[in-house]
Amino acid sequence: MEDKVILEHAFKAMENAYAPYSNYHVGACIATRDGNYFYGANIENASYGATNCGERSAVFAAYSNGYRRDDIEKLAIVSDGDTIATPCGICRQVLSELLKPDTPIILSNGKQTMVTNMRELLPYSFGPEDLK
Ligand SMILES: [Zn+2]
Repeated sequence: MEDKVILEHAFKAMENAYAPYSNYHVGACIATRDGNYFYGANIENASYGATNCGERSAVFAAYSNGYRRDDIEKLAIVSDGDTIATPCGICRQVLSELLKPDTPIILSNGKQTMVTNMRELLPYSFGPEDLK
């Protein structure tokens, strides 16, 4: 699958962002190996701490529908900022467990695009293997 398709889905998901406080809109899309898509957008809250990021919304949607890390082909995260948005620290921790280390993550703000993965974004991460 071309990255163009998943990016279009992520930008469409960004239209559903609820960001009255930051006015910073994020969209995300997970593509599964069997051809499904799961969407996420950032959903803010007046308490700030209860805000959920777009990429966590998308990966939680995929997991909520029974998909697991081996089923996920790609993740796209897009924003309307001047720079490419990379996942925040909380999202990196979540994605390091819920995605495989080499699953492609496509980041774009519509002007610039880059492809990375969790191995690059969170090396030496703490994970389930550390609890055994
Ligand atoms: Zn985040």
